[in-house]
Amino acid sequence: MSENFDLIEKNIADIFKKMKPYPNAHLMAAIKTRSDEEVRKAYDCGVRYFGENRVQELLSHYDCIKSLPDAKLHMIGTLQTNKVKYIIDKVDMIESLSSLSLAKEIDKRAKKCGVTMPVLIEVNIGREEQKDGILPEELSAFLLSLSEFTSVSPKGLMTIAPVMEDPRDYAPYFEEMVRLRDEVFAKHFPDTEKPLLSMGMSGNFSEALSHGSDFVRIGTGIFGPRHYPTKTDTSEEKI
Ligand SMILES: *Cc1c(COP(=O)(O)O)cnc(C)c1O
Repeated sequence: MSENFDLIEKNIADIFKKMKPYPNAHLMAAIKTRSDEEVRKAYDCGVRYFGENRVQELLSHYDCIKSLPDAKLHMIGTLQTNKVKYIIDKVDMIESLSSLSLAKEIDKRAKKCGVTMPVLIEVNIGREEQKDGILPEELSAFLLSLSEFTSVSPKGLMTIAPVMEDPRDYAPYFEEMVRLRDEVFAKHFPDTEKPLLSMGMSGNFSEALSHGSDFVRIGTGIFGPRHYPTKTDTSEEKI
């Protein structure tokens, strides 16, 4: 374990060094499959944003993250409408808003709790069939229909870029995200001071930063390879 901790510390220091030229960008640790000890280690190394994909895992990390001063917890994975109620009062932002039915449910649950939920709209920038997200040409209409949900507060856009062999090939996707923020999102929400872009992961965060990303979400680049639980584990989804 301690060896792994040394590696986490080194990885985070290396990432922060690469982020130096971008003082407004935030490092988010993508914590799926990680333990509370790994989360705490990342926090001790300066990480303040934590992103979780699955509701069950998010709930299991909640007490830990809540106990860390200034730590923020974002939902970054596919969110089923029937699970919104479990996380609505626990997350600081939902980055994976990708349907009107989900917006409607977030709005309903937020109102019940007396909160306004900050969200990012997930964009399927690579038009990949297996991925969630609004298609670029549908973004304008989607944003327009969000205005009826008064307890949902859109703050910007999020994307998971398609996997490219050559890092230079990410540029067109990140450029398109910047354009969507400036030409589509900013027009619909002119009061949002600076709409956010959450883009860039372990394999492409340098490129995302150079395109002005506000949040890079990094998992393996911080913690090393993921080991998914096997079927016999007790960590099967219970909700
Ligand atoms: C897992 C995940 C990441 C981080 O991926 P890595 O390649 O491990 O850095 C970022 N964003 C989302 C939505 C993820 O699910």
